[in-house]
Amino acid sequence: MADHCVFCGHKHLESKLTRYIYQKEEQLLLVDHVPCLECTFCGEQYFEVTVLKKIESDYLAIHQQQKKPKRIMQVAVEDFVVAA
Ligand SMILES: [Zn+2]
Repeated sequence: MADHCVFCGHKHLESKLTRYIYQKEEQLLLVDHVPCLECTFCGEQYFEVTVLKKIESDYLAIHQQQKKPKRIMQVAVEDFVVAA
């Protein structure tokens, strides 16, 4: 994995656990405690390909009802409108 931020060029990346939001069309899967490297300067996050593959296969398994998600969450949807 990268040892510097491709986005801003900063050299310090920190190992973190984060929430990953996987989206396919209108379907969302939130995955908590996903390991990543985060740029301490701009906050850009980097994930291992194996991590992303695992999330995608979990998404497919849940979508095809071969796996039950840990819990179901309601999500509110809004359009961004600037108040006049
Ligand atoms: Zn950065």
